[in-house]
Amino acid sequence: MGVLSHLTRSGSSLLLSVAALTSVGAVAAAQCEFAQLTIATDFDTARVDGCEQTGEHAYRLHLKPEDLPINPSPWYAFRLEPNGLTAPQEVKLTLVSHNGPARYAPKVSTDKFQWQPIPYSENDNRMQFKVTLQPSQPVYVAGQEIIDATMYANWLESLPQGPQQQLFTLGESAQGRPLPAYQHIAGEGKPWFVIIGRQHPPEVTGALALMHFSNELMFSDAAVLERLRKEFNILLVPLMNPDGVALGNWRHTTGGVDLNRDWFKRAEPESQQLHAFLQKREKAGEEVFFALDFHSTHYNIYYTMPADYKRPDGSPLQHPHLVTDWLADLAARIDWEVKDKPGSNPDRGVFKQYVADTFAVHSVTYEVGDNTNRQEIKTTAEAAVVTLAETLLEHLPK
Ligand SMILES: [Zn+2]
Repeated sequence: MGVLSHLTRSGSSLLLSVAALTSVGAVAAAQCEFAQLTIATDFDTARVDGCEQTGEHAYRLHLKPEDLPINPSPWYAFRLEPNGLTAPQEVKLTLVSHNGPARYAPKVSTDKFQWQPIPYSENDNRMQFKVTLQPSQPVYVAGQEIIDATMYANWLESLPQGPQQQLFTLGESAQGRPLPAYQHIAGEGKPWFVIIGRQHPPEVTGALALMHFSNELMFSDAAVLERLRKEFNILLVPLMNPDGVALGNWRHTTGGVDLNRDWFKRAEPESQQLHAFLQKREKAGEEVFFALDFHSTHYNIYYTMPADYKRPDGSPLQHPHLVTDWLADLAARIDWEVKDKPGSNPDRGVFKQYVADTFAVHSVTYEVGDNTNRQEIKTTAEAAVVTLAETLLEHLPK
């Protein structure tokens, strides 16, 4: 699949900010050690909640949610380390998801960057597959490509840096991990375009889309994007739930909260810090103009606010047709269907609803299918940037 190799455009300064952004609390070493095989979970994003040997070369692994109730997305990531192997050996793995059906198809990697999907069979809450191990060659197995805090740090570092652009930390998570952020300042008083991601830890295809989208947004020399960067301040917060991602959580923060239900209550430091940033910009006379929130689900879909949405005080959103205009332009530009679902859930605390009710503007939940072709994710994200830029500029007050 090789997706991550395409995400970082300038390869030279990759490691500079890693020290500042790498997670603090170490993941508990929940190693499953057997005579011929160690199943290691000593890295960020790793997650297995128990294992047992069921045959000479067969192992059963248990996947359990961080807490209940939960929207079930049984995430897993681990490293297979053969012990004393002298010839290739096939091992058979059975993953049992507790409290949820199997969701993520297995992928393998020897370096955590290049991933290959592998054949598997699935039955209700069980997934079975085989991995052939080579002597002295550990193999990573995960439900999706791994994108951890270090990779986000490297990627943000690779974006344009200059007097108008800064990497910074929005604040800290509940466990003290940084919320890495990037801003592009077009000028004082200019409106803000806000992009966030990874509220839900396993939603990696959404993360891939966010990175491709942002690369195009910041690097493209297309006239429309150069104009967008002149007219809009941009805020990027790609890793909203760093604790959940580091711990391999299925959905929640370490506070047991679904962050994308927390935007009105703001019980969590992660939502509080973004809210504080946006309030500050508003107070400085810079309006929040539009926001995107990247996620993954079973298929590609855009969850939008209805064009005729009325806020709790009865007032409409500004630029009511901005999103319908954008998605129509996007549909005309790509070869596959653009599904959108307008909706409003006044009390649920979803980010797009919070943006609508707080700032009176549109916001979209950009959902990418778990199994969407990785090239399609990139092509769609790049078409989405160009069409969105055209639409935002059309709606910008002259
Ligand atoms: Zn989600």
